[in-house]
Amino acid sequence: MTKRPKLPCPKCDGTGKIPLPEPLLETLTFVRAAKNGGVTASEAHAGLYPESIMGITAFNNRLEELRSIGLVERTRCGKTWKYSAK
Ligand SMILES: [Zn+2]
Repeated sequence: MTKRPKLPCPKCDGTGKIPLPEPLLETLTFVRAAKNGGVTASEAHAGLYPESIMGITAFNNRLEELRSIGLVERTRCGKTWKYSAK
């Protein structure tokens, strides 16, 4: 049986990497612009989408996702976490 031909991956053009999705990119950009040693999820929410029905939890998830891929780190800030760019 002949080998089935393969196509370059349409997601990464064969590089094995895809661009950071837009919601994560805008969150990372916000974290990188932070002046006072990082941002909390509620600060990211207030800074990016204060009028949106999208809640603080959504930003928590975005920040944790950025942390899981090693782009931000977090430190304790009272009852919450402060995220800063690595
Ligand atoms: Zn791919």
